[in-house]
Amino acid sequence: MPSSPSASPRSRGAERDHGESAATMLIDAHIHLDAAEFNADRERLIDEARAAGVCGFVVPAVERANFEAVLALTAARTDVCPALGIHPLYVMQAQLEDLDRLDALLGRGAARAVGEIGLDHFVSDIDPARQRKFFVAQLGLARRHGLPVILHVRRAVDPILRELRRVSVLGGIAHAFNGSRQQAEAFIALGFRLGFGGAMTYAGSTRIRELARSLPLESIVLETDAPDIPPAWGRGERNQPANLARYAELLAALRGITVEEVQETTSRNLIDTLGGWQPG
Ligand SMILES: [Zn+2]
Repeated sequence: MPSSPSASPRSRGAERDHGESAATMLIDAHIHLDAAEFNADRERLIDEARAAGVCGFVVPAVERANFEAVLALTAARTDVCPALGIHPLYVMQAQLEDLDRLDALLGRGAARAVGEIGLDHFVSDIDPARQRKFFVAQLGLARRHGLPVILHVRRAVDPILRELRRVSVLGGIAHAFNGSRQQAEAFIALGFRLGFGGAMTYAGSTRIRELARSLPLESIVLETDAPDIPPAWGRGERNQPANLARYAELLAALRGITVEEVQETTSRNLIDTLGGWQPG
């Protein structure tokens, strides 16, 4: 599509272009739609999400074994945006040749982002040196192919920021952000946006809620991470794509703005991060 959402300022009040309403458009910046948890009712859940106003889904891979599943979803649906990468929790089973496969797929233009990649220093039995090796290599691939990255960051904000300062990439998303204001600002300064979702729904998540309330809206994207990170109203259950609509309402309430502004701005942010990708 020829429109350039990154260049356009807030368009509310201005005329809508080409009769296409952006007002009800929400895009999930992070959802594992290919997960086996959705095998029984994937299409129904997508239909429910679409009925709730969610019209696009960014689906990141986690290891080579699911690259094909993510790409198959993309081939079947124009509302799915693929990201390919090796997740830090999967590096023990990954092979170095998997990076060659990733490189080849990225070279064919198979993905709009590299992800999800990162560091997880919460899970103790995954060798940090091996995590770092895969992370740095994938930052290099993102840089080489001119792609943004989708980051998994757990107990590892500062080490990740350090690597991002060494290997500069186009930017991307710090998924399920759970750091300090200073760390949020450091990501933003490096061209990143921060993903907010299920954690924000818990009243006890005071720091995350305060950041969601007060960071520039231009720095925020919304995501479910379904089937993971269930919201407060679905504690212990499988998370679902339709929940994104309620996250948008919650963010609007926290910030004291309209849900339409949240929908428009967070979707535009995501499209900008993804180099103009739009759901069809
Ligand atoms: Zn994820």
